[in-house]
This record gives sequence, C-alpha cells and structure tokens, in this order.
Amino acid sequence: MPALQDSFGRNISYLRVSVTDRCNLRCVYCIPLQGIPFAPKSEILTLEEIQDVVQVGASLGIRSVRLTGGEPLVREGIVELVEMIREIPGLLDLSMTTNGVLLSSYAKRLKDAGLRRVNVSLDTLQCDRFKEITRFGTLEDVLDGLDAAIEAGLSPIKLNVVVMRGVNDDEILDLARLSLEKPFHVRFIELMPIGDFFRPERVIPAEEIFEKLQTLGPLKSMEGLTGCGPARSWRWEGAEGTVGIIGAVTQTFCASCNRLRLTARGTLRPCLDDETGVDLKSALRPFVNRRKLSNLFREAVRIKPESHTMVGRETTLPYHCMAGVGG
Ligand code: SAM
Repeated sequence: MPALQDSFGRNISYLRVSVTDRCNLRCVYCIPLQGIPFAPKSEILTLEEIQDVVQVGASLGIRSVRLTGGEPLVREGIVELVEMIREIPGLLDLSMTTNGVLLSSYAKRLKDAGLRRVNVSLDTLQCDRFKEITRFGTLEDVLDGLDAAIEAGLSPIKLNVVVMRGVNDDEILDLARLSLEKPFHVRFIELMPIGDFFRPERVIPAEEIFEKLQTLGPLKSMEGLTGCGPARSWRWEGAEGTVGIIGAVTQTFCASCNRLRLTARGTLRPCLDDETGVDLKSALRPFVNRRKLSNLFREAVRIKPESHTMVGRETTLPYHCMAGVGG
C-alpha cells in the first residue's frame, strides 16, 4: 500500500504549502479589510522548516508542491525557497498560486530558481472593478505580471476567476476570450462558503457558467491537462489556451482529492473545509525529527475526511478564510 493512502483509498501526492498568511490584497471574498489575526513571525515556519516538511512528504509519496498563501510573493526569501525545494528527490512538479501583483519583477527569477508554472488570480478585466474586488490592487500590475510569466517561460499559466453573481458574472465571456489569443488556461471557480462575503445568491453554479461559455462556440473537451487539479477543461477551435470550471461546491471532486495543505504556522490540514489538522511544530522545533514528521504526515492522511461539507451550506464557518488555510 502506498505510504500516503487514506482511509477511502485515495493516494495523497499533492501538497499545497502556504508560505505566509499575509497578503498585499484584501479580496472581498477572501480577507476582511482589516486583515485576519496574522501569525507572529516566530510562529511562521522558516524556509528550512518548510524544506524539511517537503522533503519528508516527498519521501512518503508527495509528487507535486504548490506554493501559496496569503500571497507567496510577499514572503521574504521566496526565490531561495524555490531553489531549496526544486532539487528534492521525488518531486515532479513545483508551482505557485499568486495574485500576480508582484509577478513582473519575480517571474524570471522564479523560473531560473526552478519554478515550473504559475496560477494567477484574476477576477476582472476592468480597472475600477479590480480595485473594488481586491481593494488594494492595480489591474495593470497583474497584466504586466502575466506578460512577464509568458516571457519567462512559466508554463502552463492558469488564471483563477472566482465567479460572483452581481459582481463579475457579466465578464465570464471577456475573461474566457483571453484563452483565444494567449496560452492561458482560464478557470472559473464557484464561490465557496468560506469567508464572510459569501451569500448563497452570489454563487453561480458550474452548469450555468458552462452554458454561458458555450454561447461563444462549440467547446472541445480536454483531458490530461498538466497538473493534478480538479478543473474540467475545454478548448475552442484554434485557441491558444483552454477554459475550465472548478465546481468546488456543486460538482465536488472530493472522491479524487489527493491533497494535503500545510499552513504558514505549520499545521497539516487534510481538507480545505476543515479547521482540524496535525501540528508539525513539535517535530520541527527545536530540532527536526524526521521519523516524527513522517508519523504526523500519516496521521494527517489517516484523518482526512471523505468529503467537505460545503454542499448546500448557506453560511460560512465561524471564522474561516482561504488565506489562513492556504488557498
Ligand atoms: N494570494 C494568492 C492568490 O491570490 O492567488 C494565493 C492565495 S488565494 C487564497 C488562492 C485562491 O483562493 C485564489 O485563486 C482565490 O481566488 C481563491 N479563493 C479565496 N477565497 C475564495 C472563496 N471564498 N471562494 C472561492 N475561491 C476563493
């Protein structure tokens, strides 16, 4: 039996690493304007501790690592971290999810350091609306970041669009058209009941997004796109990229979930939607204990729930947001 097989027969091979809980944006659906109770620096895992955790994970069967946050590009030493992780035996894929604001100055350095690809969050192509959604950001910086990512050869580039009724649903086709001219994989994500912005009426179900996409022309289903994510993807004839839908709530993909999440504070969480997890700090401080780390990895896999509980949920959990968990 593989080292990281859970109680439901799923093989766990993908680790999402939140390198910081801090972010330079305050996207309405993610972090409240005033921020969240950010962890003091001493509680955040050091670069070496993250490397230790990834090394042990890889020795147990982790094959893909995604750096996320918070915003990974505000973490001091992020390029060094990529260098420290890239050579770990067993790892096949190293990627990052970023809001793209700082990407133009980082793309080449990240690629040279060993990052393979990026996912960039982009919910709108309108400057004013971008400011309303992200509260601090500038659309132009993200678009420059995307150009820099193409130039640097970070590939494939996936765009994450959180679709919200009455906020950006009128832009589904504009955003989808980005895949026609450029090598972008534009993925539309259902708004999840995480964070206090959530309201059931703001959710646009995957099926509705799909119907809208089809109005642009016949879509060819794509299989085997790079990555191990949950998106269903299609391509328009002659398009450079693809479009995809992540029906996180109405079309759950829990049955094939292969993930664990490492929070910035060093907790290994078996499910995005679950506040419980396994604290790795006792196996990292004052000295790293690899045997104990391996056991804690197995424990996190052992307690992985069969599925999340977001289907049909009308409210969010008491306090919960993606930046804390590592979205
Ligand atoms: N700062 C980076 C970024 O913006 O991509 C990485 C962290 S962010 C928490 C990761 C992803 O979580 C983003 O693509 C964001 O759109 C998504 N996200 C956050 N809250 C969400 C929610 N309530 N529903 C759906 N997606 C959400």
